Amino acid sequence: MNPTRPGAGWIEVITGPMFSGKSEELIRLLRRAAIARQRVEVFKPALDDRYSEGDIVSHSQWRVPCRLVERAEEIRTRLDPRTEVVGIDEAQFFDDALPAVCGHLANLGKRVIVAGLDMDYRGVPFGPLPVLLAVAEEVHKIHAICTSCGAPAAYTQRLIESDERVVVGASGVYEARCRRCHEPEGAPPASEPWLFPPGDDSDQKEEG
Ligand code: ADP
Ligand code: ZN
Repeated sequence: MNPTRPGAGWIEVITGPMFSGKSEELIRLLRRAAIARQRVEVFKPALDDRYSEGDIVSHSQWRVPCRLVERAEEIRTRLDPRTEVVGIDEAQFFDDALPAVCGHLANLGKRVIVAGLDMDYRGVPFGPLPVLLAVAEEVHKIHAICTSCGAPAAYTQRLIESDERVVVGASGVYEARCRRCHEPEGAPPASEPWLFPPGDDSDQKEEG
């Protein structure tokens, strides 16, 4: 959906697990904005400092050019003031300033479209996404297909063992899983009580 008034600022978030089509949906919305002759700028976090420009690329190889920035605040300082639509991909890797930056841009009348993982591979809320989901005018939580059983998948399964929260890669490293098929590796942090809901014992999981 678009802001109802031209010039009315707005934050919308596209979220879900890996392979759910977040990048595809972001690219689709940005292409439509460009067709409507709106000025569009796109950003994603630079995970290393070798490049300043790149592409948002979906798993199905759709792509749009974007600028790589190290901190959320750079989106605000580098943005062309004439830009009407701001796209942000891989939002989970940005710092905690991202919601304030998005709010600032929306207050200036810009349409801010943010895509990012809501949970990491353990099911733990990821980076600035929880706050963004709360402050956005619109949230699209989309599903992938569970690679194990074919059900709608809201979780990302990591297939390799690592102590790092982020292991770059996609196919062969991660796959989409539903709640029943998702197996978080290692011990989830005790500060995340929703990871241990009452009645969640493995016997029930096997039978149900
Ligand atoms: P995301 O940005 O959410 O990781 P992408 O937009 O990059 O997702 O890729 C979505 C595309 O990935 C789908 O349109 C489909 O072609 C492909 N795909 C591969 N594995 C799956 C899966 N398990 N469930 C859904 N789509 C998948
Ligand atoms: Zn499943």
